[in-house]
Amino acid sequence: MIGTGYLGATHAACLAAAGHDVVAHDVDPTRLEALSAGRAPFHEPGLADLLQEGVGSGRLRFTTDVADVADAEVHFLCVGTPQQRGGRGADLGALRTAAAAVARHARRDCLVVGRSTVPVGTADDLLGVLEAEAQVSVSLAWNPEFLREGRAVQDSLHPDRLVLGVRDDASYAVLAEVYARWLSEGTPVVRTDLRTAELAKVSANVMLAARISVVNVLGEVCERSGADIDDLVRILGADPRIGTDVLQPGLGYGGSCLPKDTRAFVARAGELGVESAALLHHVDLVNMRQRARAVDIVRELWGERRRVAVLGVAFKPGSDDVRDSPALDVATTLQRLGADVRVHDPRAAGSAARVADRLSYADSAEEACADADVVTVLTAWEDYIGLDPVALRGAVASPVVVDARTCLDADKWRAAGWSFHGLGRSACA
Ligand code: NAD
Repeated sequence: MIGTGYLGATHAACLAAAGHDVVAHDVDPTRLEALSAGRAPFHEPGLADLLQEGVGSGRLRFTTDVADVADAEVHFLCVGTPQQRGGRGADLGALRTAAAAVARHARRDCLVVGRSTVPVGTADDLLGVLEAEAQVSVSLAWNPEFLREGRAVQDSLHPDRLVLGVRDDASYAVLAEVYARWLSEGTPVVRTDLRTAELAKVSANVMLAARISVVNVLGEVCERSGADIDDLVRILGADPRIGTDVLQPGLGYGGSCLPKDTRAFVARAGELGVESAALLHHVDLVNMRQRARAVDIVRELWGERRRVAVLGVAFKPGSDDVRDSPALDVATTLQRLGADVRVHDPRAAGSAARVADRLSYADSAEEACADADVVTVLTAWEDYIGLDPVALRGAVASPVVVDARTCLDADKWRAAGWSFHGLGRSACA
């Protein structure tokens, strides 16, 4: 395993649990130290148990020296593919470096499997890198991962489907052996070519991104027209073609995947001459605009003292990840605009404090809300959905709440005397 982030660490632990011998390499020694000690370097339910089991059994080890993977039969490339600095496409530098290092050190014929999310056509480029560096025969396959942060272990152990992008039967046979446990459990498998496999993950992400932005446009129309977003969501969700998942308007998507994958897709589609991909550029614009709209709503309400409680800075509930978090973005923007911001997050306060150390952090939601002029819910954690608006009312300076995730029971909060606002809700509602 090359790269031990959310993707690589989880995959390494799950493959070890399936009985394989796994050596995982990363260039980050701190991360490897935690993993070797059986500690998950990020919040991921079930990962620490799998790490301890794998490390304890001797089937899973971690190394800073890429030469230690020289004898592996299969190499999974799991390094990051972030947005280019100063560009919108994907930065494939780490992937090329990792592929070159594996090929240079490989001492036996092997299969290199791309698992990172990449623009379609990347494998062609990597084949050139592998051929230039390897002294042995190296084949290339693509096997995208669809895990969701916060559910990474469950998603990896029980995926909806396995996508195996291969160029020949021999590569497929190797992957079928790697995933023998999954195949025996009946996990649906799609065997396909490398390009389709590369496109699969990014396509799933642009579909989700588009859905979220469409819902956010509907929410804004509700705001301006006085229509009821909660009823609209119920009506839409009852249509089996639409369904109820990811159907709440709010601050929009964030994290390390959807924003950069949508941009990389538009950039790559542009290179391929697909002008209609501009649709997805607008998906991105709508998404980013939600953050600005949330800030505007809070500024209308914050009064003289501008004391704002921020509940939630993780990019989504169930995660401690604040990479490109809409919630953290809004919190830091409010502070920059002069608000006295007090933040709470049940999991992500530590990771937020590392990148936004000028915000002040509270140990509980109640503490963050004490004497606040506006309470904002920016991440839909269960803890906040379960808050008691009657009790909280006694703690704040003014009972004004902005539900930027459409996750609170508006009627309950209003009945408790709160002035209730949010994305998707008209001001008079
Ligand atoms: P991450 O940033 O958490 O981890 C990447 C790791 O790669 C880091 O630990 C980094 O030190 C390491 N690395 C970088 N260059 C290296 C090199 N040359 N050799 C060895 N290690 C190197 O990223 P992530 O969230 O795990 O994502 C990795 C890839 O998986 C990305 O392409 C991402 O889009 C994709 N992906 C992520 C998720 C997710 O939910 N996070 C889900 C599916 C796919």
